[in-house]
Amino acid sequence: DFATLPDLIAAHARERGEHIALADAVQVMTYAALDRAMNRVAAALQRDGVPPGSALAIVAQASVDYAVVFLGALRAGCVATPLAPSATPASIAAMIPDCGAPIVFLDADQAAILAQQPLPAKRIVFGAAFADWLAAADARPAPVAIAPDDAFNIIYSSGTTGTPKGIVQSHAMRWAHIARNAAAGFDEAVTMIATPLYSNTTLVSFLPTLGWGGTAVLMGKFDARTYLALAERHRATHTMLVPVQYQRIMALDDFGRFDLTCFRFKTSTSAPFAPALKADVVARWPGLLVEYYGMTEGGASCGLNASAHPDKLHTVGQPLPGHEIRLIDDDGHEVAPGEAGEVVGRSPTMMTGYHGRDDATRAAEWHDADGNRYIRHGDVGRFDADGFLILMDRKKDLIISGGFNIYPSDLESVLIRHPAVADGTVIGAPSDAWGETPVGFYVARPGFEGEDAGVILSWVNEQVGRTQRLSALHRIGELPRSAIGKVLKRDLRDRLGEFA
Ligand code: ATP
Ligand code: MG
Repeated sequence: DFATLPDLIAAHARERGEHIALADAVQVMTYAALDRAMNRVAAALQRDGVPPGSALAIVAQASVDYAVVFLGALRAGCVATPLAPSATPASIAAMIPDCGAPIVFLDADQAAILAQQPLPAKRIVFGAAFADWLAAADARPAPVAIAPDDAFNIIYSSGTTGTPKGIVQSHAMRWAHIARNAAAGFDEAVTMIATPLYSNTTLVSFLPTLGWGGTAVLMGKFDARTYLALAERHRATHTMLVPVQYQRIMALDDFGRFDLTCFRFKTSTSAPFAPALKADVVARWPGLLVEYYGMTEGGASCGLNASAHPDKLHTVGQPLPGHEIRLIDDDGHEVAPGEAGEVVGRSPTMMTGYHGRDDATRAAEWHDADGNRYIRHGDVGRFDADGFLILMDRKKDLIISGGFNIYPSDLESVLIRHPAVADGTVIGAPSDAWGETPVGFYVARPGFEGEDAGVILSWVNEQVGRTQRLSALHRIGELPRSAIGKVLKRDLRDRLGEFA
């Protein structure tokens, strides 16, 4: 059983042609119109001599035009390669030759930002230039056969812990992901897309919405109140948000004024989601809340139905059907039941590999005794007695102090419970005496800026083990975060000198 997303969209165009597929702030597009627009993109690519298998780069805010290029590229057998507009011009200039894209699609903002940057690709800017490029194309492209293992997209890893690598995902992997959402009601969905399209976090709700014939509402820049107003106006039913977005929305004093009763399915992924915040979303925002844990490389994923498991909010749930997770030690052996180890996973949604980096791909793999291929997640976790995964930390963020392993998440979960603390994180700082020592950073809750950091530090240290104690705690205006809302611990490590 396999279908490509372009074929699924063609079927919706025949069966529900007038149903809205895409909406942004300036235009709405039906399935019939989307299918025609995808044909034009594919025909324009064929006219320009772009062969199947070519990557096509897109650097822009989410929009209907963006989606049309992404999907039309697939119809021509090309590989959608959405890049982060938040990346520096120099790193975009490195990613384009890395993926080999002959064309890069830009919005007006990015066209200006990248104007001085030499790029080995033709630039097409959304607006008049894009319309001209399409208008000259045939209405019907030559059909292109797509095999399950053909590349669907390349996503550059967010670079939270290192240089970005191009992660290649196949049509089969995307199909497995769309198919597994069969019961999620996406056929009647109005899905709010409020995270950027270059992130897998977004694609895991955007692609099933289109695969099942629902409506995707594309929001440009995120703002909590605008999001709620838009969701109310569109009678939104589905959404994917990252934890920091839930945090900003739930903190609005007029949250209760918005009518959110149409919501049926809300999801979250990509970063730690505080149990108290999950409980608040379950209590005050209608519809199911499901948290996913996984990675773009797609080893394996877990899901937690937070609405159904109020006693498991400190976990990321259980492996999804067909997904297998094992935990290994530093020597690559499986740990005993109940013990912590590095997560390795295997599933139908695994990446093909890192683009052009066989060594990095091999380094990311682990094989069991039967030779089955797993992908290393780089996260440490342990299973509770009911088989729910308790995620601890990224392996690279573990603090080793005087020979003891300290999990920053143990300290963070205490720190964020202090009434004066709105947000907090803990990193390992170099220490002559201990090798590394835990240092905390916190953002004060409005009205509590005057609270003494020393008092909060003592409060935390009274509640943790002797070997875990924070050696310093600093107040900071805001935690540095990636565009998708992940705390950038690496940036804090680089900035430690400012707080000495
Ligand atoms: P890079 O690999 O470039 O450093 P990244 O790992 O942040 O970037 P992603 O594939 O987007 O890139 O993120 C996967 C990681 O995000 C996981 O390995 C895990 O650390 C974190 N993560 C994902 N879901 C959750 C979750 N529900 N709770 C906590 N952490 C999560
Ligand atoms: Mg990663």
